Amino acid sequence: MTMKRLFSIMLLAALVLNHGISFSRDDDRDSVCQVSTINALMGGSYDGDMTLAELREFGDTAIGTFDALDGEMVCVDGQFFRIGADGNVHSASSDIKTPFAVIAFFAPYSRIELLEVDNIDELKGFLDANVPSKNIFYAVKVTGTFDYLKMRSVPDQTKPYPPLSEVVKTQPVFERRGIRGTLVGFRAPAYTKGICVTGYHFHFISDDRTCGGHVLDCAIDKGTARLDDKYGFSLKLPRTKEFAAADLTGDTEYEINKAER
Ligand code: ZN
Repeated sequence: MTMKRLFSIMLLAALVLNHGISFSRDDDRDSVCQVSTINALMGGSYDGDMTLAELREFGDTAIGTFDALDGEMVCVDGQFFRIGADGNVHSASSDIKTPFAVIAFFAPYSRIELLEVDNIDELKGFLDANVPSKNIFYAVKVTGTFDYLKMRSVPDQTKPYPPLSEVVKTQPVFERRGIRGTLVGFRAPAYTKGICVTGYHFHFISDDRTCGGHVLDCAIDKGTARLDDKYGFSLKLPRTKEFAAADLTGDTEYEINKAER
């Protein structure tokens, strides 16, 4: 066999491998990846399945929670943090598992300067005015000085797990004023109801890494929002007994409104 023939066989093999297996890394970079569904989390599927080491393969920017609902997850620039029920920020080790997370490689296409944003609805309005379509996904980062932040975290749960709507009735809520930091979030289209938190979902981490959480409200003195449009969505379903047995047929929008917004 000539060298040229061998080379062309090798090239063909490489092409088959590229097309035959799955999405290339480039396609993954244009996708939002989510672990589990929001209605499974609402129903109490808190057993983690994917480790942070595995999750990291799908992005560098993430929000979510941890095994047994042990706090709020924020990942900025590939660094994972866990905000505990006491409001303190801990680094999260690679072997911790997550029952629910949203992650993407962040490559912003647009930048919006924000000045004196009074509340989270105003922020959502500004962002919505700058998204070209509400039918695709977005990863969002807002950095700046926050006049006000109202955040919550969730305490770890023991089995039998109560639904999230019960847990959040006694959730610890933290308020902070005059703090620099980053909102990390995602916008999911309305048609993903039951799978995603539709609309915006934000978590916060302060620049000094002393506070954070799931954001209930915020006011921004001066900041910059960056948006990354995502044309793909990949869903990783937990290989857990509780997810397999969960009844996911109901409409959880009412509970999601109370728990996540
Ligand atoms: Zn959250």
